[in-house]
Amino acid sequence: MKHIYTHDNIVVLHSVKNILALNDIESFVKNEQTAPVGAQHGIGNTFHELWIINDQEYAEAKALIAREIDNPPAKAKWVCDNCHEENEGSFEICWQCQSPSIQLKQEI
Ligand SMILES: [Zn+2]
Repeated sequence: MKHIYTHDNIVVLHSVKNILALNDIESFVKNEQTAPVGAQHGIGNTFHELWIINDQEYAEAKALIAREIDNPPAKAKWVCDNCHEENEGSFEICWQCQSPSIQLKQEI
């Protein structure tokens, strides 16, 4: 057995569990029963843990979680401050005037 994921929201944890189940990876939730007790006492930071049964599936499970849960949302479009052209979020330089995006400038 191996610990794969932690979240304070049991609903999120169960959706991760469902994603794993859809891919034939068996898992179970630890600390599930502590939630109502924690809530009664006003303790908001009770963390639930998701564990997989089969250690060999760890890498696959991690990859699934990264793809389905931790994926950052698509980058927002940006407007070039040189020529005011709108650019896709994945562009690092303006497609029209080759001026770097503000984000890229900040990174430099
Ligand atoms: Zn431009």
